[in-house]
Amino acid sequence: GRAKEQGLTVGTYDSGQDASSTDQLALLAELQDAFAADDQIVLHLQPAVDLITGEPTGCEALVRWRHPRRGQLSPGEFLPAVERSELLIPFTRRVLDLALAAAADWTAYGIDVPVSVNVSARSLTDPTFPAQVTEALRRHRTPASRLVLEITESVAVSERDIVDDVLARLRATGVQLSLDDFGTGFSSLSSVTRIPVDEIKIDRSFVDEMIDKAAAGAVVRGAVELGTRLGVRVVAEGIETVEQRAALIALGCPSAQGYHFCKPMPADKIVQALSQLRKSSSATVTPLRADG
Ligand code: C2E
Ligand code: MG
Ligand code: MG
Ligand code: MG
Repeated sequence: GRAKEQGLTVGTYDSGQDASSTDQLALLAELQDAFAADDQIVLHLQPAVDLITGEPTGCEALVRWRHPRRGQLSPGEFLPAVERSELLIPFTRRVLDLALAAAADWTAYGIDVPVSVNVSARSLTDPTFPAQVTEALRRHRTPASRLVLEITESVAVSERDIVDDVLARLRATGVQLSLDDFGTGFSSLSSVTRIPVDEIKIDRSFVDEMIDKAAAGAVVRGAVELGTRLGVRVVAEGIETVEQRAALIALGCPSAQGYHFCKPMPADKIVQALSQLRKSSSATVTPLRADG
């Protein structure tokens, strides 16, 4: 396959390994074939919407592996192995290509929202990553401003300098940066002061609990205020209910993403989903605006 031609290697089987690491090695070997197969690595896409108007404001690419025998695998099942291997670079290239191709599709229908791509923390320590991004944009003749890179900062302190350098060079290309899973783990307040971002995405865990727990609601409110003061977009993740949506509107959150609005869907369905969101936008949201 393509990966083999690039001279990539994966670990070899070691009889002393436990079942799960053996499984990850088997997956890596199979991933090389998946690159060649063309239809195994696919993206699902999920719009983000303006909470007041309901209009799509962006669309996030979420990778899936349609494995011939294991069925559809979600990122959590194979990304950890990819990120530890030399396959990360060709994998990232494939995801960028698929995402930019999808964005070209909806642009052709007059919908010009940007596409968001999740970036592995390890790519942020790769000095060649900014060039990989600009080359992908050039291949697709896409302006940098149409691409949002979602980052979570989970790198060791010792690698901070290289990460800051990579992020500065990414910014210089004109791509947008988004701080994903904001409020959790490494995506915290200190990141906002160090990394110049265009967007923060409030982690789903706070949205999950905001109706029942005052503290979670306070975190959401704080994040919305912080984003407003910094002049960055704020997106809430994982909205599943109309109650969560109303609570977010009451807190002044401008936009959101979640099953309540649209589930992640295959690339060939996304143009229709985006234009439906656009058409139905004001009609469904006007009553909430009047109340809020
Ligand atoms: P994320 O970037 O925070 O993406 C949001 C996750 O929440 C996605 O899971 C999405 O399917 C799910 N989700 C969206 N709306 C809802 C909702 O209303 N309720 C619930 N319960 N879940 C919702 P998914 O697709 O399994 O992705 C998991 C993580 O894998 C992502 O978290 C992201 O960090 C990573 N990931 C996904 N695609 C890629 C990729 O192409 N490259 C890299 N490096 N990481 C990726
Ligand atoms: Mg994300
Ligand atoms: Mg997220
Ligand atoms: Mg999350």
